Amino acid sequence: AAKTSGRGRVAVFDPAMRAAVVERRALEAELQGALAGDELRLVYHPVVDLADGRVVGFEALLRWHSPVLGPIPPDRFIPVAEDLDLIGEIGAWVLREACSAAAGWRSRYPGAGLTMAVNVSAVQLASPDLVRQIAGALASSGLPAGALVLEVTETALVRDPEGAAEQLAALRALGVRLALDDFGTGYSSLSYLRQFTVDVLKIDRSFIATIDGAELPPIVRGLVELGRTLDLEIVAEGVEDERQRDLLRDARCEFAQGYLFAAPLSATDAELLLLGRTVPAPSGEGTPA
Ligand code: C2E
Ligand code: MG
Ligand code: MG
Ligand code: MG
Repeated sequence: AAKTSGRGRVAVFDPAMRAAVVERRALEAELQGALAGDELRLVYHPVVDLADGRVVGFEALLRWHSPVLGPIPPDRFIPVAEDLDLIGEIGAWVLREACSAAAGWRSRYPGAGLTMAVNVSAVQLASPDLVRQIAGALASSGLPAGALVLEVTETALVRDPEGAAEQLAALRALGVRLALDDFGTGYSSLSYLRQFTVDVLKIDRSFIATIDGAELPPIVRGLVELGRTLDLEIVAEGVEDERQRDLLRDARCEFAQGYLFAAPLSATDAELLLLGRTVPAPSGEGTPA
């Protein structure tokens, strides 16, 4: 077993494990100051109406560019933020920033009915502070509650289904809408639909990636039809080519996101898109057509 020698020193004998620990420590140290250091940004991924190609909203996605470690994807640093108890602060910032961007766009582009989706992790969902954070972000931005969509994953619901159900009910009482993100990848997707009231299903990108022939694969078709039967909005995630888009549209899937339409955009580029100017050139994210 590893033996400690002196304060704060840990002897780990597996070099790969040691490297992972060192990397994790560096990530933790840098993340502590990221919010105060203005190192976090939101990018906005358009949601497109498949019937007419119009942008109907955006999903806010968090980006961290550490001056020391470089760009770190959210899948890597959000779990660390949760462990360090920083997710409350970061999540509150994301909500304020996303709501104020959406309120601005809605006032400059009225009539588009633009929505803003924000991802909420399991730890955030378990926080007694979440409802207050959301109410605060709505009040200070002036964004109508109905224009905000909160995205939760099935895995966020599985930990404490009763607590989650209460929290979701409180959020719906504010008037915000709820989306089940990465739908179909959890362990018991269908039972969650029965247990939790949601408004939107986001079909996980892994299913969309199976669309490569002349017809929609039966499972994808089934997911679209399930949404229709339950009167839920459907968003297909990760649409990367025209064939996928066309087959989904023909199956009457209403909405989609994906690199085919645009990569996640800076606030400035998102606004250019709304202005109807050229779709911004790729800025390192995704591979927009
Ligand atoms: P998600 O909410 O399912 O977001 C979709 C992810 O797929 C994003 O990755 C997006 O950039 C990527 N994506 C979108 N279209 C395509 C496509 O056509 N092809 C491919 N290959 N990828 C596509 P990203 O930004 O790295 O985010 C990963 C996850 O991190 C998100 O998954 C979400 O669960 C989480 N996340 C991001 N921002 C936040 C945040 O502000 N708060 C919380 N709690 N989680 C966040
Ligand atoms: Mg999402
Ligand atoms: Mg997703
Ligand atoms: Mg995801």
